[in-house]
Amino acid sequence: MNMNNQVKFNADTCIGCKLCYKSCFIDVIRWNENEKKPEFKYLEDCVHCNYCEIVCPKHCIEIIPDFKGELFHQSFEQYK
Ligand code: SF4
Ligand code: SF4
Repeated sequence: MNMNNQVKFNADTCIGCKLCYKSCFIDVIRWNENEKKPEFKYLEDCVHCNYCEIVCPKHCIEIIPDFKGELFHQSFEQYK
C-alpha cells in the first residue's frame, strides 16, 4: 500500500473505451458512467503493473509510482 502513487490522466483525449477500467485487475480504476471516463479511486493499492497505460489507445494515462513509499523497496539501500 502506498498513499503517494499518482496518475496523470488526460481527459481531453480520452475516448471512453473502458479498456483501462477493464485492465485493472485490482480495481484501482472505477468507471464514471456520467462522464464516460475512468476515475482513479484507489491509487494507494496500485501495483504499477502499467496495464492501464499500455492498453490505452490514446495514451491518456501515466502512472507515477512513489517507490520510496513501498515497504518492499525499503529493504534496499538505494531506495532509502
Ligand atoms: S498500473 Fe496496474 S494496478 Fe495500477 S491502476 Fe493501472 S492497471 Fe491498475
Ligand atoms: S483506455 Fe484510454 S481512452 Fe480508453 S477509457 Fe481509458 S483513458 Fe480513456
